[in-house]
Amino acid sequence: MSNPIQVITRVEVEPAHLNDHQALVPALDALEKREIAPEEMFADTTYNSGDNLIAAAAQGVEFMASTPDKTDPDGIGLGHFDLDLKELRVCACPEGARPIRSRLGKDQMTRNLRFDPERCAICPLTDDCPAGKQGGRLRVHPRDIATVYSRVREESETFKKAYAIRAGSNRPTLSARRPMDWARCGLGASFGWLKRFLRYSCARILGNVLEMVQNAA
Ligand code: SF4
Repeated sequence: MSNPIQVITRVEVEPAHLNDHQALVPALDALEKREIAPEEMFADTTYNSGDNLIAAAAQGVEFMASTPDKTDPDGIGLGHFDLDLKELRVCACPEGARPIRSRLGKDQMTRNLRFDPERCAICPLTDDCPAGKQGGRLRVHPRDIATVYSRVREESETFKKAYAIRAGSNRPTLSARRPMDWARCGLGASFGWLKRFLRYSCARILGNVLEMVQNAA
């Protein structure tokens, strides 16, 4: 057994109308307050979201859960674009075209991209590409790229092995094992950038996300 010592560190009863993914940040905050935040947190799929990945990483926690909303294996999604995982932004489309315009949205986080509509119109992928279907327009939030990252990470053998600790549990299961060795994940150095970015540079993003959520509430 990979976790021979199992201790319940927190119990919270939630009303039925709350989504599971809303429980993660309060749990992390409570554990950090008590100075028992884990190095790794494993949870059910319903706890995973791009925002939670960013929030956990901002607190230095490896949040591992399988990714909801599986993509169509035959479709074209954000994962097919060339992504800069350091800046959490799109560099080029699947056809190698760079955006001709990139503007930050009002929330200062969402990027409103525009690819050359003339090129999109004659592109063989236009009917399947999320930008092609919108005349070259694409809106991307950092949480979308974090979700792509989660999806790719999920396919790694290292993740699958680590995630086996989740078997049989229905609530976030915490462990204090050594963090994953990302070099062995097969995700490449670029995902190492994302990991470092998420861990050390996302406090501002997290703050903005939380503020947006609070304002919307
Ligand atoms: S439709 Fe446009 S954005 Fe999409 S792959 Fe083709 S050229 Fe790129």
